[in-house]
Amino acid sequence: LFAPMSDYHPPLDDIRFVLEEITSLGRVAALPGFGHVDPELVDGALMECGRLVRDVIAPLNQPGDRQHSRRNDDGSVETPDGFRAAYHQYVASGWAGVALPVEYGGGGFPCLAAVAVEELVAAANLAFSMCPMLTQGAVDLLATHGNDEQKERWLPSMVSGEWTGTMCLTEPDAGSDLGGIRTKAVPASDGTWRITGQKIFITFGEHDMTDNIIHLVLARVPDAPPGTRGISCFIVPKVFIAADGELVEHNAVTCASIEDKLGIRASPTCVLDFDGAVGYLVGEPNQGMRAMFTMMNKARLSVGVQGLAIAERAYQQAVEYARERRQGRQPGPDHHASSRIIEHPDVRRMLLTIRASVEALRALLYSVAESIDLAEHHPDDTVRAEQRELVELLTPVAKAWGTDLGVELTSLALQVHGGAGYVEETGAAQHLRDARIGPIYEGTNGIQAIDLVTRKLPMHDEHAVGRFLSRLDAIEVELNASGEEMVGIRSRVRDGVVALRCATQWILAARVDHPAAALAAATPYLRLFGVVTGGWLMARQAVVATRRCAQGDGDCSFLRSKVVTARFYCEQLLPQSAGLLAAVTAPSHDWLTLDGGQL
Ligand SMILES: Cc1cc2nc3c(=O)[nH]c(=O)nc-3n(C[C@H](O)[C@H](O)[C@H](O)COP(=O)(O)OP(=O)(O)OC[C@H]3O[C@@H](n4cnc5c(N)ncnc54)[C@H](O)[C@@H]3O)c2cc1C
Repeated sequence: LFAPMSDYHPPLDDIRFVLEEITSLGRVAALPGFGHVDPELVDGALMECGRLVRDVIAPLNQPGDRQHSRRNDDGSVETPDGFRAAYHQYVASGWAGVALPVEYGGGGFPCLAAVAVEELVAAANLAFSMCPMLTQGAVDLLATHGNDEQKERWLPSMVSGEWTGTMCLTEPDAGSDLGGIRTKAVPASDGTWRITGQKIFITFGEHDMTDNIIHLVLARVPDAPPGTRGISCFIVPKVFIAADGELVEHNAVTCASIEDKLGIRASPTCVLDFDGAVGYLVGEPNQGMRAMFTMMNKARLSVGVQGLAIAERAYQQAVEYARERRQGRQPGPDHHASSRIIEHPDVRRMLLTIRASVEALRALLYSVAESIDLAEHHPDDTVRAEQRELVELLTPVAKAWGTDLGVELTSLALQVHGGAGYVEETGAAQHLRDARIGPIYEGTNGIQAIDLVTRKLPMHDEHAVGRFLSRLDAIEVELNASGEEMVGIRSRVRDGVVALRCATQWILAARVDHPAAALAAATPYLRLFGVVTGGWLMARQAVVATRRCAQGDGDCSFLRSKVVTARFYCEQLLPQSAGLLAAVTAPSHDWLTLDGGQL
């Protein structure tokens, strides 16, 4: 009855625009350590990656959702048909290690280029992309905290993609609060450790795409201090490796079950039992949380990118559907026959809401990636510190705003389909189901908002957020110089920044005087932060697209569409900031003190 899920078209022109005009890939590629990378090389790589994801990985998205990953009685897990072959093609083309360290065989690409690759893979098939994403997190952790012997032993095969990695943090009583971890690590006489306990919700904890899996497991050593100060990190391979590199017998880790879940059904979410499994300590005992924190910024950015990717995919499908589907008549006296729904103003509003939000989000996420590169590679200490500060401040916003938008925008894309969106055949519903995990894992969005309010706003005596607000103010000069066309954008951005400044002052004061009120306001505050930062980036998009169009520099119809989406964002979406400010500053005492039984 309905056309199946449409093809994915990698949005390379939109990505190039952000890489050239909102961020600067040229500037990043010129940093020390990136001598082997230049913008042309990255562009060629993105085209190549785009072809692979479009032709090989995207077509597995809907069948993978239908088939799910399945656990056999012997504890092995089969991924859906085609996943193993697609993974091997992905690895053979070098994508697994594109952003990973050169010394272990990776491509050593900047984070700014890697984020574009991540977007393409996640948009093509979110469930598939989970496996390389988790491996990358494990590699980042080991590359920073492993000793030389561990790095030599484990990293080359993980970087190449021959083996995958997992992050084993969560337990039944330890989710948002990892202080509750109970898994035990006992020292053995040979210097290794024996790990015993159960981990739940472990992504790609068992699968058939590679012959080995390297688990990074959080556990407690004997006499560890309570809470997060007493957590250590261990390498636990699924299969042992002999001195000659041969995979030999299995370690004592088994997949007890896999979850039946709302979305990303092709990604096996495993309960893993460790029954005296051999583990190797990473770093010092009780320093496991510190090790986890080093990879958290990148991992949170990657999850934000998932929100962007899935919204882009859902948008492409919604536009295609709206161009074909005929219902009702568009306004105007000349329209007697039934119209394509894309002509109805309300459908256009939905489509533009998705498109403008996607562009704002892409600009934000790629900017954070650029800041990570500058913070790690810029030769000037001051610039590195400045960029580190930006990464710290913006990471919770990138994760939470990105994944909240992923859910809202895929829901809107479903709405464009009407009833056809609600049935599984079109695939519109799968995008919404798949997107729904984003606000939950890698630190729930509530926890991100609390992080922003309690840890990030006070940074550097509150100067970090002050400096960020001054950056936002500076756009006004550029908008003033860009003429009449920018009047609407300018006034909306100014209103938005004023709202963010007022809300920030309110939160900073409440944090000291009424901490519970500051926590109660954290979620609308983070939303306001995202919406206004998005407005600032869209204003920059409008300025640069207008200038380039006037100079005849580039495809004017493409550049005009960038101005239109920027204006739509600023005039239609940014005004939310007034309502969000009101929500942040409204009293919360009565609902915070309502008896639990009355809720
Ligand atoms: C599909 C999937 C894949 C996953 N992959 C992995 C993985 O690979 N590795 C891994 O280790 N884990 C993984 N997880 C686990 C995931 O990270 C946790 O589910 C998440 O951290 C939330 O923990 P929880 O489920 O225990 O929820 P809880 O911590 O019980 O939270 C429940 C609710 O309470 C709120 N809450 C909790 N504490 C506070 C607080 N202090 N202040 C305000 N609100 C609070 C939360 O925001 C949430 O809304 C995965 C989960 C899923 C569903």
